[in-house]
Amino acid sequence: MVLHIPTLLVVSVFIFFLMSLLTFHAWLRETRERPLAYLGGMMLLAAVGMVLVSLRDQGADYVPKVLGNMTLLLSAAFNWTAMRVFTGRAPHLPGMLAGAAVWLGLCLCLVPSFYQSMTVRVSVYSLLVASYGLLTMLEFWRSRQRLEVAYLPALALTLLHTVFYSVRAVIDQGLGLDQALKGYGAGVPFFSFMLFESMLYVIGIAYVTLSMVKEQVELRLKAAAFCDALTGIGNRRAFMVNGERMLIECRRRGESVALLLCDLDHFKRLNDAFGHQTGDQALIAFSQVLTQTLRKQDVFARIGGEEFACLLATADEQTAIQVAERIREGFAHLPLLAPGLLSVSIGVVSSQTAGYELSRLLSQADEALYGAKDQGRNRVQTVTRGTSVLQLS
Ligand code: GH3
Ligand code: MG
Ligand code: MG
Repeated sequence: MVLHIPTLLVVSVFIFFLMSLLTFHAWLRETRERPLAYLGGMMLLAAVGMVLVSLRDQGADYVPKVLGNMTLLLSAAFNWTAMRVFTGRAPHLPGMLAGAAVWLGLCLCLVPSFYQSMTVRVSVYSLLVASYGLLTMLEFWRSRQRLEVAYLPALALTLLHTVFYSVRAVIDQGLGLDQALKGYGAGVPFFSFMLFESMLYVIGIAYVTLSMVKEQVELRLKAAAFCDALTGIGNRRAFMVNGERMLIECRRRGESVALLLCDLDHFKRLNDAFGHQTGDQALIAFSQVLTQTLRKQDVFARIGGEEFACLLATADEQTAIQVAERIREGFAHLPLLAPGLLSVSIGVVSSQTAGYELSRLLSQADEALYGAKDQGRNRVQTVTRGTSVLQLS
């Protein structure tokens, strides 16, 4: 089946225009998402480029041959830049202009041989498009460890597009547009397939890029909803969700879990004496002590104003007391304020005494914490043994 080339051309130009307008609109709604701006630019340039390369036999030959192909190469460069920006890198201006500049250079220097040889022009153009395809794939490959969104459809589409243009560079002899429009000549089926492929690629890459951008925004919002804005560690919501998950897993494996409930001592007094900003710094410093002391598999968060909770995986009460002591001492020895001004009380409970239900663990740890406050603060206390042996010794 040979597709009707004039129809394909008209449909492609209108689809590219419409999609670029819709993508620019999506970008204007969320201007921080710069890949959408480059994606819209890519489709607009593709539409303009298609119109320009169609202006054959209109008198000014340089318009389709030079300007038209330069615009299409810029469109390929914008596609690469959209993916480059999406993966967190800055646009590379020399790289963006390189394809169009090479084309212009060849047109200016090699006139008339380059200008007149359709086969050479088709090969050079196809190789330049394939090079941008390779660069696009490279952006995904370099970022594969940290990309959390589903990028494989974009990678697969770009791979197919790059393979197509690499093959075209070798096999396509080129077909004059006048012949293509009239539908005669050996290259007609390939020409129509090429237009069809461009349309499929542009629609496909626009769709997957939009869904990748959407997924990335959702992940960012989810991370913000689970993060404490002041300290950067998890918040109460994160603790409840991740803690429940960890407790289910540990119960299934028959491993014990311990909960530390930490409350900074006389924090109101500290705020009143040194100001809220110093209080904030103390909260940040305590979060850093937790981050440095706890392991990757432990779950910890700021669950209230100056209250922090930590669930220690595969830890019994004795281990939990030792960890709590390290936290207490680490905080007390911070050089932020004079010695004696920073202290924390910690209530400890383990699943061996309280079971695996988070609310029960929290209420028993709270009881132990109040015991620590009653005993004079700056100490670790359990429900079963009272103040920790380490603290007393
Ligand atoms: P205790 O030793 O019994 O725990 O006494 P406390 O003063 O630490 O406890 P209290 O509950 O009376 O006061 C907690 C204070 O923590 C009051 C509140 O202003 C302060 N606070 C809560 N959130 C923040 C915050 O984000 N930044 C700062 N700087 N202070 C905060
Ligand atoms: Mg408190
Ligand atoms: Mg307190």
